[in-house]
Amino acid sequence: MPPKKSKTIQPLKLDSNVNFNSVGGLEEHIKCLREMVLFPLMYPDLFKRFNTRPPKGVLFHGPPGTGKTLLARALAQESSLVRGKKVAFFMRKGADIMSKWYGESEKHLKMLFQQANKMRPSIIFFDEVDALAPARVEGQGEACASVVATLLVEMDGLWDRGDVIVIGATNRPDCLDPALRRSGRFDRELYFPPPSVLARRDILAIYTRHWMPRPTDEMLDRVAQTTSGYVGSDLKALCSEAVLRALRRMYPQVYDGDYHCISNIDTRKVEITVEDLLAAKRSLLPTGARCNTIVSRHLAPQYEPLMRAQVNAAASLLKQAFPHVNASQEEDVSPSVFLISGNCAETHLAPALLAQMEHCSFQELSMSTLHSTQVLSQERAIISIFSECRRADRRSVIFIPNVAAVWEALAYTPGQSLLLQLWRTRAAGDNVLLLATCNVEHSELPEELQELFPMYQDCVYRVRDPTATEVLEFLKHITAETSPLPATNEKTDQTTNFGMHKEKHGN
Ligand code: ADP
Repeated sequence: MPPKKSKTIQPLKLDSNVNFNSVGGLEEHIKCLREMVLFPLMYPDLFKRFNTRPPKGVLFHGPPGTGKTLLARALAQESSLVRGKKVAFFMRKGADIMSKWYGESEKHLKMLFQQANKMRPSIIFFDEVDALAPARVEGQGEACASVVATLLVEMDGLWDRGDVIVIGATNRPDCLDPALRRSGRFDRELYFPPPSVLARRDILAIYTRHWMPRPTDEMLDRVAQTTSGYVGSDLKALCSEAVLRALRRMYPQVYDGDYHCISNIDTRKVEITVEDLLAAKRSLLPTGARCNTIVSRHLAPQYEPLMRAQVNAAASLLKQAFPHVNASQEEDVSPSVFLISGNCAETHLAPALLAQMEHCSFQELSMSTLHSTQVLSQERAIISIFSECRRADRRSVIFIPNVAAVWEALAYTPGQSLLLQLWRTRAAGDNVLLLATCNVEHSELPEELQELFPMYQDCVYRVRDPTATEVLEFLKHITAETSPLPATNEKTDQTTNFGMHKEKHGN
């Protein structure tokens, strides 16, 4: 069946309630967009006088749920307030534009740009732009390459006046055709990281600002501190869940299906406590955990007695190797390496250290990234990790969980030598940390890895067995509500063998 005749392309209706105040923790991005998008709209003469060209495109990249679409919508709304003139906002999902009919996608793209040009000032927002313009490779269908080419031509054809802006959003910037990331297309790139503790605090404040009574600062701080790895959409869901929990706690009868009771409840009496928020948090799986993004997570309270001392010891050792663990560290440092060996290195120690570096951008080189369906070859995956670090506007961490397994997976490809060569030639730039874990002894690692993480440079932390006191504290914590434990015998405070590790701590 031939495709239907396409209708005229209409901009989206903007929600006047969504503006920059609805976006939490992204002040730097907002400042940057004001300069890049709003100033050219407000002061076109300034750019003309100095013969400078405002950017045509901005690429938003980062994990899902971090506010890329929200910020694009807020930007469109804020721009419409600038000169009293409505800004037309067009939004397309990359995959939706791709039509099975040859030439249809290109036609749609052309019409979209024409309409945006006609209705300028306008913003075109391409969500999942990597689906629309994936990296072109030999042997891939011509149709895909033709859509990418059309997009490039259309972006090049935009006037240099800054009144048509193209925003692309993607979770995988490495999968995007590199030509799109050149100057004159997506001139600027903004990384949307999983929110830091301060950003989470801001987002929680946004979603609770109309609550009566409003949660106290202490409540918000506590929830923000325990939600490492939760992105904006998770925090919004957490707030909604907390409301339901409070309702359930105060009026359990609403679940009995007795509608008479339901009509009698006084919703003004529903008060949300910090326990409701924390219980809501526990019932939600953060997006990061579902999407296989890097796990950065503070120690769970039940593991505090068992692991806290080790996390602190590893963190202070790491600080010497990579001073950027402190967000305040300004000076550049040369690339650093750090290895955590032993049980619990991957599951507890590394996530807890990563959670202390929320101000850095993370790249993961793991078995799953090497074998992901989005990866064309292992070498390309490694190259793209290094180039993403170089492009990042902040300190970066390349995280390799189970480095021995990754090394083995690269054994029959040029991957091993490529990885070493890229690292040695500082292909990821300065201010980068290569953080790895392994569940074998340092001495059991292949020689090349032992050289990469040299023992003598204090860049290896070996997880030791927990002491008897640590184990007893841990057990006390988890059995507190069931049965009382016998009194602690101080003499038992030696290294025990609770299946964690056989030898003594090597640092
Ligand atoms: P993305 O486009 O990055 O996948 P969205 O912008 O669609 O994510 O976010 C989904 C929802 O999560 C938003 O509509 C918003 O309600 C909430 N959200 C995400 N990030 C933020 C943030 N930084 N501030 C406030 N709300 C946010």
